[in-house]
Amino acid sequence: MPVASNRPCALVTGANRGLGLETARQLAASGLRVIATSRDPADARAAAAALAGKVDDGAVEPLPVALDVADPASIAAAVDHLRGAATSIDVLVNNAGVSLDGFDARVARATLATNFFGPLRVTEALLPLMSAGGVVVMVSSGMGELGGLDPGLRARFTDAALTRDALVDLMDAFVADVAAGRHRERGWPSNAYRVSKIGLNALVRVWAPQLAERRIAINAVCPGWVRTDMGGRGASRSVDKGAASIVWAATHPAGGSGPTGGFFRDGRAIDW
Ligand code: NAP
Repeated sequence: MPVASNRPCALVTGANRGLGLETARQLAASGLRVIATSRDPADARAAAAALAGKVDDGAVEPLPVALDVADPASIAAAVDHLRGAATSIDVLVNNAGVSLDGFDARVARATLATNFFGPLRVTEALLPLMSAGGVVVMVSSGMGELGGLDPGLRARFTDAALTRDALVDLMDAFVADVAAGRHRERGWPSNAYRVSKIGLNALVRVWAPQLAERRIAINAVCPGWVRTDMGGRGASRSVDKGAASIVWAATHPAGGSGPTGGFFRDGRAIDW
C-alpha cells in the first residue's frame, strides 16, 4: 500500500483478537506499517478490516497466508511469502499464545508448541528478514517469573552458560517428565503455561547477547492480567493498557537502540 510502504514494518502473531489485535492497532497508530498474521488468513483479513478507519489506510495489512506458530510448515510457508514480497521486518511481536485447560502430557506438549517453540521458530525464521535496529518482543507473563520454582531448575534456567539447544532439551524434558509421571519429583510445577513462559524468558536471556551483535534488541513483556478471551472478564486490566505494555517494548526507543535482554511491564523492568 503506497501510504504505508516506506514505514518501519512490524509483524504481529495472533493479531486477530485480544492483545494481538490491539497491539496491531497501537503500532499502526504510532506510525508503523503492521502485518497482521493469524493461523486462519480469513481472521487476519477480518482484523485488518476491523482496524480500517481507526488507523491510516493500508497501515495494517493482513498476511494472506496462515501463520500457525505451532506448525513449522506454516511458519516456513509464511516466511517464504514474506521473502517473495521482499518484506523487511523491523519489529517482531511474538504475541500468539494459549492457556489450555487441564494438565497432562498432551496439554504440556501443545502449550509448549505454541508458547515456547512457536516464538522460537518464528523468530529464527524471520531473523534473516530483520536488519540492524530491529526489535523482537516476546509476549510473556508474570507467570513466567522464577520465584517459587524448584532451586535446581531455577539454576538451570538462569545458568549463564545456557544455550538455545540446552534450553530446548530442558523444555522437551518437561514434556517427557509429565508423560512419565515424574515431573513433580524433577521439580517441575504442574502448570504447562507457567513452564512455557519460564522457558520463553530464558530464551530472551540466551539470545540477547547474540542478537546484540547484529544490533537487534529482544525483550520479554508482561502485559498484566488483561480482559481478553484468555484473561477473562474479571481481569484487572483493559486490553489497551495491556497492549501498551507490549507496544512500549516494540517502539522504545525507535531503531532498536533501547534495552535488550530484559523483562518489562508498563515500561518498567520486573524480576525474572
Ligand atoms: P487470546 O485473547 O486468547 O488470544 C490469543 C491469540 O493467539 C489469538 O489471536 C489466537 O488465534 C492466537 N493463537 C493461539 N494459538 C496460535 C497459533 N498456534 N498460531 C497462531 N496464533 C495462535 O489471548 P491474549 O490474552 O490476547 O494473549 C496474547 C498473549 O498475551 C499470549 O501470549 C498470552 O500468554 C499473553 N498474556 C496474556 C495475559 C492476559 O491476562 N490476557 C496475561 C499475560 C500474558 P486464534 O483466534 O486462531 O485462536
